Amino acid sequence: MTLALSKRKEWVLQSEIRNMSIECDRISGINLSQGVCDTEVPISVRQAAKAAIDAGINIYTRYDGLAELRQAIAVKQKRFVGMDVDPEREIIVSAGATGALYCACLALLNPGDEVIVFEPYYGYHISTFVATQAIPVYIRLEPPDWAFTEEVLDAAITARTRAIMINTPANPSGKVFSAPELESLASFAIRHDLFVFTDEIYEHFLYDGRRHFPPATLPGMRERTITISGLSKTFSITGWRIGYCLCDSRWTQTIGYFNDLIYVCAPAPLQMGVAKGLMELEKTYYDSLSQQYMEKRDMVCNCLGDVGLTPFVPQGAYYVLANISRLPGKNSKDRAMHLLRQTGVACVPGEAFYHDSSGESLARFCFAKANQILTEACRRLANLKL
Ligand code: PLP
Repeated sequence: MTLALSKRKEWVLQSEIRNMSIECDRISGINLSQGVCDTEVPISVRQAAKAAIDAGINIYTRYDGLAELRQAIAVKQKRFVGMDVDPEREIIVSAGATGALYCACLALLNPGDEVIVFEPYYGYHISTFVATQAIPVYIRLEPPDWAFTEEVLDAAITARTRAIMINTPANPSGKVFSAPELESLASFAIRHDLFVFTDEIYEHFLYDGRRHFPPATLPGMRERTITISGLSKTFSITGWRIGYCLCDSRWTQTIGYFNDLIYVCAPAPLQMGVAKGLMELEKTYYDSLSQQYMEKRDMVCNCLGDVGLTPFVPQGAYYVLANISRLPGKNSKDRAMHLLRQTGVACVPGEAFYHDSSGESLARFCFAKANQILTEACRRLANLKL
């Protein structure tokens, strides 16, 4: 037989995040590796989704999503960041932020185009670029500030640079890009005529009074920015697969075309549940989200610090990178496996977030878990012998 897997298979790797989840299940451990929140879904969201099924909202929706959800996203965008979005022409509802980014890449990038990505990165961003035949170009951010300079940005530019990827708040570093940093990125993108993909899925997970600044709201950025977000995290519905992209109508038509081709539409009744949540939940819901997660962050960071796995305390999102160099092993995978065997707590080896061996001394812990699970994880970690 001469049949074989496609060449594309060689470009993409199984995510280390999934691998650690499999290892964790094998020993019935506590999984702080995957970003699956097991916190409660808001009741209005659940009820509206159930009601939608009973009301017969079960067929294909328009390729860009139900009008109710597009409207609710536009209202939310205005309410939180003062951004005007036309729900008829500038929103594509997709299968999560993941689906939205994939469709945007298919619509806007050509094979061989380079995309600048900050490192440590979220692996799905890289895999999406690679699968769509774009080439990631890395800019290394160093802890604890994860800062960058204009010189480093300029040095990454080539004749093939087409876009830059921003993730704020960021996975895995927890960096919340400040207004001056985003202004500098905006002038860079304008100067070099780049698309800006911005993944803002953690927009409501902000700590120590930090604010979220969407790049699309900066002068000159609206037409070149593809804002990607979703409700997986905000409503704890990672399995519902509801996300979206917002951008200029010049781009949405073709992004929508690919969305239709690959997903047809996001799940119809679940779109209704999310629409209801976006319209009904008060500011207090979002504030309490940040407050609750900040408490979780502090619990996990304090525990990591106490056992000698020094954390880089995140400003947003719900992950913490910690220095695990004191654990035995020749790389971060060995060290993470050692931790899993010793304590039954799974984390993601730092190498999953770097294109080279720079992440060897790091691991990522997810704290989007119910408090009793985090308490048990901390109890187990406290027994760690270094
Ligand atoms: N973007 C980032 C930065 C993430 O960390 C994740 C999930 O971990 C996603 C997107 C996935 O979002 P969705 O469930 O909407 O596809």
